[in-house]
Amino acid sequence: VGSPPLPPSADVVIVGGGIVGLTIALELRHRRPTASIVVIEKEHAVGMHASGRNSGVLHAGFYYTADSLKAKLTRDGNRRLAAWCDEHGVPLRRCGKLVVARDASEHAGLDLLLERAALNGVPLEAVDEADARRIEPRIRTAGRALWSPTTAAVDPGAVMRAMAVQAQRRAITLAVNTRWLSHAPGLVRTLAGTVAAGYVVNAAGLHADRIAHAYGFGANLRILPFRGTYLYASPDAPELRTHVYPVPDLDMPFLGVHFTVTADGTSKIGPTAFPLPWREAYDLTSLSGASTRDVVETVASSLALFADDPSFRRHAATELPKLRRSHLVKHAAELIEGVGPDDYLRWGRPGIRAQLYDAAKRRLVMDFRFEGDDRSMHVLNAVSPAFTCSLAFAELVVNAIDAA
Ligand SMILES: Cc1cc2nc3c(=O)[nH]c(=O)nc-3n(C[C@H](O)[C@H](O)[C@H](O)COP(=O)(O)OP(=O)(O)OC[C@H]3O[C@@H](n4cnc5c(N)ncnc54)[C@H](O)[C@@H]3O)c2cc1C
Repeated sequence: VGSPPLPPSADVVIVGGGIVGLTIALELRHRRPTASIVVIEKEHAVGMHASGRNSGVLHAGFYYTADSLKAKLTRDGNRRLAAWCDEHGVPLRRCGKLVVARDASEHAGLDLLLERAALNGVPLEAVDEADARRIEPRIRTAGRALWSPTTAAVDPGAVMRAMAVQAQRRAITLAVNTRWLSHAPGLVRTLAGTVAAGYVVNAAGLHADRIAHAYGFGANLRILPFRGTYLYASPDAPELRTHVYPVPDLDMPFLGVHFTVTADGTSKIGPTAFPLPWREAYDLTSLSGASTRDVVETVASSLALFADDPSFRRHAATELPKLRRSHLVKHAAELIEGVGPDDYLRWGRPGIRAQLYDAAKRRLVMDFRFEGDDRSMHVLNAVSPAFTCSLAFAELVVNAIDAA
């Protein structure tokens, strides 16, 4: 993406060139054909953080309770993003997904997911072990499993590139290398200059809480970063036909270590969900991107959560050993037969989840969250599966902007 100069004014300024910022920009363009819309992005290109570094799974929508936004948006988001990929020539792998039980104690978890799928109107089939093996011959499951036919895979980088092209074709200005710094009434100050903004949308991912606080929203809310790493299959490792997931701990917003098939057919193990001491801690061996304030606030919130929430304590204890490749492969091998220590040798690019923490309730926020008024709207918890949901989610956010 080239870097047009920042215009002196715009009807709408969107902070953040991830999938949430771009889909909101496209939805606004659809409703306001003549408005001037500018997306400001601090990096040199769009999609450099979670949106370009995720698993690329189009989720189906059966994990979430029926009253949640995630339940409402995932089924439609899956269908809409799949259709969007077809329309824009982005390859989509309709590989489906098996959810397996590691032992009989997990059957209750399978049943709960089936109930949620029925309530959410999402296709999900209970299959016996023989049927599961017909879908993926190397599956390990205790007696039965679940088959999700609408779960799919895309290359998230390819989606982001195609979205950026669409945005530019629809006269949306993508101002890269343009970091939001501060605001004054009607003005947004950036590293590349000041822009007069009729309306501001904050879709800044890992930094969305700080920006929301500056506008007077989300006072008790903080972003906690969780790092997800992947191990990629060696070229001669046996291929997988479908994604394979365990029954997750539904008290946490993560799905447990699993196998995903990428859009080009490679398989990978992950992602992990390791709590980080600062937001952009892609490299834990250097302090790159860390500020003292970031480290102090992030560590303080993580320690408070650790003290208060037994699910988080359980989660943190299981994440630490997964930093070791041998442990991660062994753990994942509970789901698939014939996975040897040398089949998954290469660490892939990590992604960092921007997970919202409610410091007043001292709990992680499980559902999507946005807050705003007639001057600004702040997307505060665009956690997984917000990539899948993005087109449907953008519609909801723009409804809220129109109603404000
Ligand atoms: C490891 C991992 C695996 C995942 N797997 C899946 C999956 O399989 N399926 C799925 O549906 N979802 C998945 N997700 C979730 C999904 O990736 C996110 O929900 C989604 O990408 C969030 O998009 P976003 O636009 O809010 O955030 P981002 O992509 O992080 O975009 C925010 C943007 O804001 C910019 N920004 C921040 N601060 C400023 C500033 N001050 N000025 C200007 N710009 C700024 C950032 O540079 C960034 O580009 C996964 C996430 C991770 C991390």
